[in-house]
Amino acid sequence: MRLLIMGPPGAGKGTQATAVADHFSIPAISTGDIFRANVSGGTPLGVEAKKYMDAGEYVPDEVTNNMVRSRIAEPDAESGFLLDGYPRTLAQVTELDGMIEETGHKLDAVLVLTVDQEAVVGRLLKRAEIEGRADDTEDVIRRRLEVYAAETEPLISVYAERGLVVSVDGMGEIDDVQKRIFAALDDVPQS
Ligand code: AMP
Repeated sequence: MRLLIMGPPGAGKGTQATAVADHFSIPAISTGDIFRANVSGGTPLGVEAKKYMDAGEYVPDEVTNNMVRSRIAEPDAESGFLLDGYPRTLAQVTELDGMIEETGHKLDAVLVLTVDQEAVVGRLLKRAEIEGRADDTEDVIRRRLEVYAAETEPLISVYAERGLVVSVDGMGEIDDVQKRIFAALDDVPQS
């Protein structure tokens, strides 16, 4: 099973990604988590990524693409994966198409979590208090939402044209959203 999960920052992608990945016994690969691990570890990739992350901007495509390419080439991703937070730009879509094609597989579905914009800002501010993420100040949150709307939201139509989008209401309790997701994904044929 090869899946993507999409939705604006604060839509609850990370939480749901883990549950879905467990269900299908595939790794949940979050580019944000990989970047954060590199930032904490002080690696050259982390030093580079931090500049962009702290400003709410996207890390350059080339850096991000190379990171995903090597991650999905790892043995645990051979039978499938769920990508959380990638692709985020059209250039990344093209790159991912190539990566998957090279392995002779295809993308099975793109799970889109739909949420109310104002509720999302509220969620992010709350998370900022709890986790103390440097990219969760109000200004940076607004910027991240702007970048999402300009660069990433248009990708949903690209995948919709391919008939891959499975749209799920992301508002409400985590368990309820999870049930909706599983019900929606039940209809997706697994490759
Ligand atoms: P996330 O945890 O998915 O919200 O990601 C946190 C930050 O990591 C983003 O605001 C970006 O700065 C960076 N990032 C994560 N994924 C990508 C991506 N696919 N392309 C570019 N930047 C990314």
